Amino acid sequence: MLESAQAIILKTAKNLDLPKETIDRLIQPNVIHELNFSVGKKIYKGFRIQHNNNLGPYKGGIRFHPNVSHEEVQALATLMTIKCAVAGLPYGGGKGGVIVNPKTLSESELKDLSLAYVRAISNFIGPELDVPAPDVNTNPKIMAWMVDEFIKLKVKNEKLKINEKTLNKLRATFTGKPINIGGSLGRTEATGRGGVFILKALLNKLKNSKVYNLKFNNLTVAVQGYGNVGYYFSKLAHNEGFKVISVSDSKGAVLVKEGLDPDTTMNCKKEKGSVAGCYCKGSVCDIRFGRTISSESLLELPVDILVPAALENVINESNMKKIKAKIIVEMANGPVTEKAYRYLTKQGVIIIPDVLANSGGVTVSYLEWYQNMHGERWSEDKVNNKLKIMMDSAFNSIWEKASKFKALDLKRAAFEVAIERIVNKMVK
Ligand code: GLU
Repeated sequence: MLESAQAIILKTAKNLDLPKETIDRLIQPNVIHELNFSVGKKIYKGFRIQHNNNLGPYKGGIRFHPNVSHEEVQALATLMTIKCAVAGLPYGGGKGGVIVNPKTLSESELKDLSLAYVRAISNFIGPELDVPAPDVNTNPKIMAWMVDEFIKLKVKNEKLKINEKTLNKLRATFTGKPINIGGSLGRTEATGRGGVFILKALLNKLKNSKVYNLKFNNLTVAVQGYGNVGYYFSKLAHNEGFKVISVSDSKGAVLVKEGLDPDTTMNCKKEKGSVAGCYCKGSVCDIRFGRTISSESLLELPVDILVPAALENVINESNMKKIKAKIIVEMANGPVTEKAYRYLTKQGVIIIPDVLANSGGVTVSYLEWYQNMHGERWSEDKVNNKLKIMMDSAFNSIWEKASKFKALDLKRAAFEVAIERIVNKMVK
């Protein structure tokens, strides 16, 4: 993933005729923190990689996963730089991660790990320096533990006097927090909601196109991943009239040809521990409504819209020829490999790249940070309206750029727009 992120930056920068020094600055991260820290007797390895801050403080999530590696975190930090620029945010890009399978930890072990990680990164994060957030396997509860520990450390080490203003500002160091400690309404749903806004913006453009022959009613959708991103995407797409026929989680996928109900499916998943076996139409789940398929075969279903919303590299050389969807919305980070991207684009599949499709999350992170920095609290409607305006504006600048190319390549357009914005802010 790192290689392909760097290759596309290199290619874009060459297309834009940028000098070698500028290209190097765009590829090499500013700072790499590799951390070894103890929790009791166990030593963990973690990272915080600060890729670029030309547009503002480093911004990006923290993931807990056994596959975390220097390479992966650096790739994700690089993509955050591009994503924040695509979204028009005053942020650069960073990413953090710890090599751990959090599913094997008890709640108190998870908390101890989160606190120890924050202690390890506390000197180089802050509201105007580097602003972490949730990512794979981290959530508002973990952000609450982290921000609390961070504030305790700052107060102790810098002998800070806490008033409401300093508290709000310190809280702005983390986004994706619970509402009662400065989180924003709408943040939990934001990534999924933003993805649906972008999908609708694309379909609106395609309606007037003679090249893309899509029927625009009852478009079928398959969503891989039923965590925060996949679930809200499914729910909001369903509310907008899309027919979600298949969803999956790490234990398997369900296919309900007549269209499933995302909320009932979520309730069923909560009860059973997995979506497998949840064939839910309306408020009823019944064995006759559907069947269980593998998560891999979900990707190969003959749907209009395919939404990989779990992990990276799931659409790759080994399955790209079996993909039948006409549109792919990259709601996970890096779910389509470079080779598969090129192959599918040539076949006429439209791929909405991650840096645009899933930027709703970091966009509402920015709105949360903004509220904290200004001591404000906005209604959910206000947040959602602002999100819509910002996502539409991001989409329009990418679309406008893409219209100048011979073939529709939204990823190339996104990288060009982002890199132009970053380079404009580089000190000459
Ligand atoms: N982890 C999310 C992402 O990859 C959100 C990052 C953020 O809100 O800072 O976009």
